[in-house]
Amino acid sequence: MAIEHTLSIIKPDATRRNMTARINAKFEEAGLRIVAQKRVQLTRAQAEAFYSAHQARPFFGGLVQFMTSGPVVVQVLAGENAIAKNRDIMGATDPKKAAPGTIRAEFAEDIEANSVHGSDSPEAAAQEIAFFFAGTEIVG
Ligand code: UDP
Repeated sequence: MAIEHTLSIIKPDATRRNMTARINAKFEEAGLRIVAQKRVQLTRAQAEAFYSAHQARPFFGGLVQFMTSGPVVVQVLAGENAIAKNRDIMGATDPKKAAPGTIRAEFAEDIEANSVHGSDSPEAAAQEIAFFFAGTEIVG
């Protein structure tokens, strides 16, 4: 199987509680490689643009407020089947429904402050990686 790249974000609830390394350990233990990573404070405009697909959803305003409430760590993960593999490692959106051992089951606070984002398709991955990273920043 070909190596894929996916966009991951360690969200403000997790950076606030100093969980970046524990979350990164989950990725690396599962065989994903962190090939780009930076800590950023999202502006409101950036958060709105990143989540524009959810613009009409009732949780959009709260989500934008949450995603700008503190620093995030944006990263590119690489590996075989990386997009689906990362979604498995993350667990369900609602931590109450996330399988044991997943990042969201272990670390998330609630359905909004759920510790991580991960691209959900090859198209989303390409678009989301380009949103945050220049090609020269990705070092495999
Ligand atoms: N979200 C929320 N309330 C909801 C559903 C989602 O606050 O009822 C937030 C949550 O942070 C989630 C993000 O919006 O991770 C994007 O939602 P999506 O359905 O794309 O879930 P994901 O792909 O992150 O699991």
